[in-house]
Amino acid sequence: MTAHISFRQVTKTFPIRGGAVSGRGPAVFTALDSVELEVPAGEFVAVVGPSGCGKSTLLDLLGGLTAPTSGEILLGGRPVTGPGPDRSIVFQQYALLPWRTAQGNVEFGLEAIGVPRRQRAARAREYLDLVGLTGFEDRHPHELSGGMKQRVAIARSLAYDPDVLLMDEPFAALDAQTRESLQDELLRIWRSTGKTVVFITHGIEEAVYLGGRVAVLTSRPGRVKEIVAIDLGERSEGQDLRSSPEFARYRHEIWSLLHDEVSRAQLLEREVSQV
Ligand code: ADP
Ligand code: MG
Repeated sequence: MTAHISFRQVTKTFPIRGGAVSGRGPAVFTALDSVELEVPAGEFVAVVGPSGCGKSTLLDLLGGLTAPTSGEILLGGRPVTGPGPDRSIVFQQYALLPWRTAQGNVEFGLEAIGVPRRQRAARAREYLDLVGLTGFEDRHPHELSGGMKQRVAIARSLAYDPDVLLMDEPFAALDAQTRESLQDELLRIWRSTGKTVVFITHGIEEAVYLGGRVAVLTSRPGRVKEIVAIDLGERSEGQDLRSSPEFARYRHEIWSLLHDEVSRAQLLEREVSQV
């Protein structure tokens, strides 16, 4: 079971500290402005945008961690009103419990939703195996590399079988080689589970490599500027997809879209600093 995601005119503002400026109305900062986005069930969509454009805000809204100021987010046709077991989030920082083993960390999420003990253990082992961590079940987070910790976090997110996997720059803190192998693992897992995945990144290559479509956000306030469908054909073992001409073409297309945004953000920055 997976679910269709719709953002309908979603706007999110934050109050500016210090309150209202006299004569200028309420002081609010618009992080996301009228975001429209449809993600069909089972799709892998990558979201890229300049730093501070509202990517994490978008994911938090979808996770139900915050509520939109206006507009609505539908999941399988129903409005998102809070967090739920139908969605799970993987953050850049692993957020593992340091006093629990890999196995214990994966079981933790299952305890929360009331899975019986015996099933918990079996399911945790199954998902640790899926992310390639068989043999590491009894290690504590401090005994695992960054990549392994992120594998545990992914296993924990998948173990309770959410419809939607939300990922906020999950590989940003990893070295390039580990990142590339986790990207491949994630694609393999996505294909075998058929989950809907929303993957936030500031990496253009990462977005092109992973996404079936790439949504490019504008800088401040974040809007969906363009959605680029990626078709890189069949992937086969041992093929260096990243150096193919099609890959370069997509990378350049998204780079151009983002480049305009980054220039615009820098201009805005300068204007603000001159006020
Ligand atoms: P990104 O993930 O794209 O870097 P964020 O979604 O984290 O961007 O933030 C978008 C903008 O909203 C930033 O300017 C940030 O400072 C602001 N923002 C995010 N969360 C809050 C909050 N809780 N209160 C006030 N401003 C916030
Ligand atoms: Mg962010």
